[in-house]
Amino acid sequence: MIVIGAGAAGILASYTAAMRGAKVLLLEKTDRVGTKILVSGGGKCNITHDGPIEDVLRAYPRNEAQFLRPSFYCYPNTEIVDMLTAQGLRVYTRPNGRIFPVDQTAKDVCRILHQYLLDVGVEIQLSTRVLDIEPGFVIHTNQGDFESEQIILSVGGKSFPKTGTTGDGYPWVTKLGHTLAPIRAALAPMEMNLEGLGVKAGVALRDVVLKGRVSGKEIARWRDDLLFTHRGVSGPTVLGVAREVALAMETGSVLLEVDLCPDQSFEQVSAKLQTWKSKNPNQQLAKFLEGLVPNSVVEGFAQSCGIEPADKAQELGKKELNRLVEAIKGWKLGEVGEVVMEKGEVVAGGVELGEVDPHTMESRVCPGLHLCGEILDVAGPVGGYNLQAAWSTGFVAGDSISFG
Ligand SMILES: Cc1cc2nc3c(=O)[nH]c(=O)nc-3n(C[C@H](O)[C@H](O)[C@H](O)COP(=O)(O)OP(=O)(O)OC[C@H]3O[C@@H](n4cnc5c(N)ncnc54)[C@H](O)[C@@H]3O)c2cc1C
Repeated sequence: MIVIGAGAAGILASYTAAMRGAKVLLLEKTDRVGTKILVSGGGKCNITHDGPIEDVLRAYPRNEAQFLRPSFYCYPNTEIVDMLTAQGLRVYTRPNGRIFPVDQTAKDVCRILHQYLLDVGVEIQLSTRVLDIEPGFVIHTNQGDFESEQIILSVGGKSFPKTGTTGDGYPWVTKLGHTLAPIRAALAPMEMNLEGLGVKAGVALRDVVLKGRVSGKEIARWRDDLLFTHRGVSGPTVLGVAREVALAMETGSVLLEVDLCPDQSFEQVSAKLQTWKSKNPNQQLAKFLEGLVPNSVVEGFAQSCGIEPADKAQELGKKELNRLVEAIKGWKLGEVGEVVMEKGEVVAGGVELGEVDPHTMESRVCPGLHLCGEILDVAGPVGGYNLQAAWSTGFVAGDSISFG
């Protein structure tokens, strides 16, 4: 049998099928196994997310969680950890539940998984780009044609194209009878014009709540850090709201705003400012703001409220203080220009989940075709969830193929 795509899902699928005695040929377009795993987690690889399966599933949209449930129970987060640690990888769990290799290198994860494939006799053919798939199946590649009655398709999505994922699988599955949920950016940075804010690229806001708004209505929020980049914004908060923002931008414009004091109400922030003013009448506003935002952001932030950072506390009237409170609780960064799919960690959308049996990963519309990993309409948040979806669905696909 043939597996197409040697990412997280394809590796698990190939290994599992070979363990069951199948003769497996794994075709991969790039010149190595696990190309995207290598860049995952900034090269450190957030392997999976710790915790009971039901908690892990809760991180996904409800319909995706429902689809993933059988495969997550079949191949839970503990399994991939056991597989890797059995070969000497040491892992640790961060307080936020994210599991990483202790030595912080994705290379070790790839090396171990590659060795697993070799140990069970998977034939790996690298630099082999699948060009088309005909029903039955005939697989056309740049290295010639291959035939197999059963195939596992694990070619990933369309983000981060330099890792080999250029959306190649979408036209094939459509031709084989599948429907695609629209492909959209998710977990992706955003481009926007920040010139008016006077912020510098590389500066981060720590532990804030980023909100996306359409016509004033909140459509998404995420609490964590926010990073200003040369072209816009990135960081965990931005990735966290990207999916909803990309969707909303199809019908309108989305404004971003930041709550710099998420643990305090408007009233509490207002009281804090009043207390500061009465205790430090001669202190400049900049001093107060330095406790809230990085120094390089102070000037831009104050000016966005129409106040000079050098203004003294006693010079700030009720109106100015109100404007400050409003901005601290909802600093308007401006309108999102683009959610950049190519720079995203995953895409939302893909093969409609109703068309795939979640217990086997076999297509309900094209018998013999199994689908796993990011080509499916599944996209979890940052935190090891997406690799886990690839490991689990890959395992089930490999475990479910029949062979004579
Ligand atoms: C920068 C970045 C960081 C990330 N960090 C994390 C993280 O820390 N934790 C986490 O859980 N998730 C992370 N993700 C997401 C995670 O990497 C993906 O969800 C996961 O790799 C998807 O696995 P997959 O096997 O479905 O697809 P992929 O890993 O993308 O594998 C698909 C494979 O198919 C091959 N392929 C594509 N087209 C063809 C073709 N025509 N012929 C042959 N082969 C083909 C590709 O070359 C690729 O090797 C990150 C993603 C990125 C981009």
